[in-house]
Amino acid sequence: MRVTAIKQLDNETLNFTWDDGLVSPLSLKRLRDTCPCAGCQGETVLLHTYAPQEQPVLPGKYDVARIQPVGMYAIQILWKDGHDTGLYPWEYLRAMCECHVPGVNDAQRNNDYKEEM
Ligand SMILES: [Zn+2]
Repeated sequence: MRVTAIKQLDNETLNFTWDDGLVSPLSLKRLRDTCPCAGCQGETVLLHTYAPQEQPVLPGKYDVARIQPVGMYAIQILWKDGHDTGLYPWEYLRAMCECHVPGVNDAQRNNDYKEEM
């Protein structure tokens, strides 16, 4: 399972296309707030758990400067506030995408359609 394409839909959304055909939008805010790096999520080293550092909200925190592939298993997102230590493995992104399975969106579309009738 891997991402075959990433497209920025608007200022707040990245669209991920998967090799099994799933296309799912993820908000930049959500991606940044779940940044998997040790600085954001904390870290356990030799049984000591280090809490994440308090991070001030800087301009550009939720803007993407660049996305780089990391080998064949992850992407690295460089944010415009300079934060670039988060690696997002495919499984991690996929778990976030699962709530956007096509059936859910289709049901929503059908409801909208009925309301228009
Ligand atoms: Zn981070």
